[in-house]
Amino acid sequence: MKVLVINCGSSSLKYQLIDSETEGVLAKGLVERIGIPGSVLTHRPEGKDKVVIETPMEDHNIAVKLVIDALVDKEHGVISDLSEIGAVGHRVVHGGEKFNKAVLITEAVKKDIEELSALAPLHNPANLIGINACEKNMPGVPQAAIFDTAFHQTMPKRAYMYGIPYEYYEKYKVRRYGFHGTSHDYVSARAAEILGKDRKDLRIVVCHLGNGASISAVKNGECVDTSMGLTPLEGLIMGTRSGDLDPAILDYIGEKENLSAKEVNTILNKKSGILGLSGGVSSDFRDIEAAIAAGNEKAKTALETYCYRVAKYIASYAVALGGIDVIAFTAGVGENTYDVRKQVTDYLAFMGVKADAEKLKIRGEEAVISTPDSSITVMIVPTNEELAIARQTLALL
Ligand code: AMP
Repeated sequence: MKVLVINCGSSSLKYQLIDSETEGVLAKGLVERIGIPGSVLTHRPEGKDKVVIETPMEDHNIAVKLVIDALVDKEHGVISDLSEIGAVGHRVVHGGEKFNKAVLITEAVKKDIEELSALAPLHNPANLIGINACEKNMPGVPQAAIFDTAFHQTMPKRAYMYGIPYEYYEKYKVRRYGFHGTSHDYVSARAAEILGKDRKDLRIVVCHLGNGASISAVKNGECVDTSMGLTPLEGLIMGTRSGDLDPAILDYIGEKENLSAKEVNTILNKKSGILGLSGGVSSDFRDIEAAIAAGNEKAKTALETYCYRVAKYIASYAVALGGIDVIAFTAGVGENTYDVRKQVTDYLAFMGVKADAEKLKIRGEEAVISTPDSSITVMIVPTNEELAIARQTLALL
């Protein structure tokens, strides 16, 4: 069977068609600027040249229709008929406390996703649009919702409560939810598999360091803590997000710069992190590395501050886990950036972490990068959220 994996944003749609038997990607692509002038579909069929289709796309319905057309197209298609797609798996950002696992989509589930939009106003409505567009274009094909928050629902209360009046949790569900759950689940399971061990016997810290970044503590196969919170803003320093800070900063900057809380929130989400700290160099670590090589002091500070925060979180998760067996680096930065892994493992030397100087340089492939006598096994485990979504979708059928 073929499973179509959809990750829908407010003006974008990412997709992958996965063959469930081989787990290979048959085609993947991206639609951008949906509903805005300049709509474009970039379709990448496996083993063929990529196709770029520029045509107006008024809404997500038209975008999904174009994706399907591309998948069955005689020249650049990868299937001969739409009926080959047996299921659709949707990434849904917020499942609140309602969803602790993936579910098949029903009218009731859609209503719940809509209600949870209060917690993820930028994401859940877009995810729902994608679901509706697929239902319309592929009637009768089972669809599943795979929630970014679900894996973290096993956290104990002490890990998800904030130190604020309890009534805000009761009235508005203000608590830590965590995100990137599909990745944390996949990477922790894969790390155990690579080591030939049962995940249930391991204490694993997963460092998902991409443009968005989060870290989680996985004990006996279950998440016991994670760094993102009510929203993805909390925790690590990210490409453009600040991560943890003194909440009083919001008010202080707002007053000094004459900005509303909403405007400061936007700065913390979009103009902070590595981009902001480096004085505007970039949110991309490749640019930061180049700037450091060229002697840019702010870029150096940005990288050091980033790594210090990651290391502090890892060490604190020794408390959450009662010790650490495995640290797994994943996502764009975790899989590729030597400097980050080097600095983080250096900070953790006091815990007996010993990285292998040569293996630290490995990029983008599964590897153990610690020495045999290291107290903790340090690994690179490339994430594959689409495959994880396809697997979970299939499991529901
Ligand atoms: P992700 O969100 O997982 O796609 O990660 C995106 C980020 O990973 C980019 O913004 C880069 O900072 C980083 N990244 C991706 N590829 C590389 C690479 N080859 N070397 C260094 N950093 C990379």
